[in-house]
Amino acid sequence: MNNELNDFFEVDIATLNPTNKLYYFNPYMIEASSNIVAILKDKEFYKIVLDETIFYPEGGGQPSDRGEIEEIPVFDVKEKDGIVYHYVNELPKNSKVKSKIDFNRRFDFMQQHSGEHALSGVILKLFGGANKGFHIGEQFVTIDINIKDMTEEMLIEAENETNRYIFENQKVDQIVTDTEGLKAYPIRKEITAEEDIRVVSMGEADCCACCGTHVRNLGEVGIIKIIKAESYKGMTRISFLCGYRALNDYKEKNDIIKSLKKELSSEESMILTKVQKQREDISALKKQSDIIRKDLAKNISLNIKADETIAIIFDDVDFLTLVHIESILLEKSNTVILATTVDNKITAVTKNDAINLGQFFKENIKSYNGKGGGSKDKAQGSFETKEEIIAFYTSLMSKIVN
Ligand SMILES: [Zn+2]
Repeated sequence: MNNELNDFFEVDIATLNPTNKLYYFNPYMIEASSNIVAILKDKEFYKIVLDETIFYPEGGGQPSDRGEIEEIPVFDVKEKDGIVYHYVNELPKNSKVKSKIDFNRRFDFMQQHSGEHALSGVILKLFGGANKGFHIGEQFVTIDINIKDMTEEMLIEAENETNRYIFENQKVDQIVTDTEGLKAYPIRKEITAEEDIRVVSMGEADCCACCGTHVRNLGEVGIIKIIKAESYKGMTRISFLCGYRALNDYKEKNDIIKSLKKELSSEESMILTKVQKQREDISALKKQSDIIRKDLAKNISLNIKADETIAIIFDDVDFLTLVHIESILLEKSNTVILATTVDNKITAVTKNDAINLGQFFKENIKSYNGKGGGSKDKAQGSFETKEEIIAFYTSLMSKIVN
């Protein structure tokens, strides 16, 4: 290792000034030159402290940035007592470093975070519901509003109103103030800090203290779309998407609609009607085929002689027919075992106390790659291949006969 960097391992963190947070002065800054001021070794990795940084650390519901320092990937960023730590697996060569953030990831978080503020502000104004939790997930952004079971109408109104502010491109101001200065702002949530309070003001949409990074104008959020709402600890958890996430969701859903149109040879407006019609058709066909299966089962059963045990493996009738055959044969037999290689399934039923079908299935079915089970007197199973069902059937037969 370069000797120059050795000294940074000796630095007492308590003597350092807080890291200068460039992402607050300009959240659009993608690259910067900074100086290493301390290095900590932690297990297999290093934590680098810079005099100033463009990397946003995890906090306030917003995940940390990713990027690189001298082309070395930064895999996590955390802040403690005003000092920002950049997590890397190797060290750069010199103490003066160039860093770069993954701006696509950052801008996504800015869109989601600013959209979240606007939606929360609107819900408070419209319905008096306060935001009690916020999370930017991989897929959705969620907020927990302290209103039990918000209705569909409330959600639509909140979404429309938030989008109106976004389309109006309301300006987003970020102000640093103290407890006294804070009195001038109609902030949405009480806060405990006394100085260096960051206020994010979004025109008529919202005003809230926040340590995250935000867009300059609400128009950059693009659009906000609520995806679902569910009950959560007596509140309503709302999942939504902003900006590119909403656009990508629209693209995916549009692709699904396009495929459905092709699959159903239908206009978009007729898709639902066509699917409903198909469901009705399937239901009618099922009823019809059940009648045919019962007739078939009756005919097949006529040619099967009464016996203590009846066991047959079929290659021309499906499992649903077997179930009908089984119930007829039970009138002239104590144990009925029927299998089919049409859909590789087996059903077994017995009135004989000496046999425990459920136990046999449980102990043996997995070694034949099958699934299933049952009780002492009745069990069913299914298999991937013809060979497996035949082998399992043979094994069960040898058990019953013995
Ligand atoms: Zn915030």
